[in-house]
Amino acid sequence: MIKTAQRRKTRQVHYRNVPVGGGSPITIQSMVTAPASDVKRALREIRALSRAGCELVRVAVKERADIEALPAICDASPIPVIADVHFDYRLAIDSAKAGAAGLRINPGNIGGAARVRGVVEAAASAGIPIRVGVNSGSIEKDLREAARTDPARALVVSAERSRELIEGMGFRDLVFSLKSPDALVTVRANRLFAAGNDYPLHLGVTEAGPPLSGTAKSAVALTMLLSEGIGDTVRVSLSGNPAGEVMVAAVVLSALGLRKDIPRIISCPTCGRSRIDVFRIAERLERRIMGQRVNITVAVMGCEVNGPGEAKEADIGVAGTRGGAVLFEKGKIVKRLKGNFTEEFIREVHNFMHAKGK
Ligand code: SF4
Repeated sequence: MIKTAQRRKTRQVHYRNVPVGGGSPITIQSMVTAPASDVKRALREIRALSRAGCELVRVAVKERADIEALPAICDASPIPVIADVHFDYRLAIDSAKAGAAGLRINPGNIGGAARVRGVVEAAASAGIPIRVGVNSGSIEKDLREAARTDPARALVVSAERSRELIEGMGFRDLVFSLKSPDALVTVRANRLFAAGNDYPLHLGVTEAGPPLSGTAKSAVALTMLLSEGIGDTVRVSLSGNPAGEVMVAAVVLSALGLRKDIPRIISCPTCGRSRIDVFRIAERLERRIMGQRVNITVAVMGCEVNGPGEAKEADIGVAGTRGGAVLFEKGKIVKRLKGNFTEEFIREVHNFMHAKGK
């Protein structure tokens, strides 16, 4: 049997009530595309992300108007909000004061030691963690030459500098990320960095690409690292709907057996025997259940002849028939559904999950 390696032992930080590291479940995070100053849109996106299964959310803070909007967003958000700040250390300090559950800064562009100290002191007095996010695209000037020959090593040197600087200030509520658009550079950088300390790692391939290729690329890097026990929180970054990122991350964690509480969906590719629109039903099901936290396998199969048997490991599923479908549990047919049955099927799945969650 293939087994995922024991998880690397890391320190634990808390974004409000959500722990990261220290053996806690690997969390899924994403980022809002709206500016923070557009409170309504930002909150709408955060709620959609949360429904999709997102557990931590990042909001870009790039100007004063974003700081002013932050308290309203943090108060109303169902999940902890992390302020993502580039260039202006004062915005990071003010984000901590405005109620952010955590900060994300990039040492390559936040300024010198004195400015970093200001940010660290603000985080310490607010009792929130800082993620030091090192990206190959914005690495410090003096590392750019080294980055051309060994980009992974340059990311590690940059992260190590920040680690030493911030540790020297007596602050240890840190999470690190070392990201590149290249999956293998990301893997190598995280492996090297992970070997030298016990800080939790946020994994992700930055600017991974549009949904299909970005998903594949992210899955490669995440799988390699997570199966070695490296990684405490993940973000899949796609040029697409952020809720899709969250689902991809959820499926990776679930497929690796690292999160048993994420629903698994089985659906057939269809063939000439299919009686129903498997693609549409499976997609709708996915949107409606992936944000739930229940250990369940649900199947959508095209035909009654092979479907229930082929998907007998599913807790509950549907298979197409002439004029409807059959509902089955562990391969056994329990009910016939007629006509346009998609909503009825999803209701049955929700009832099943509810009963299981009790
Ligand atoms: Fe074809 Fe039925 Fe198998 Fe789907 S379940 S691939 S429709 S045989």
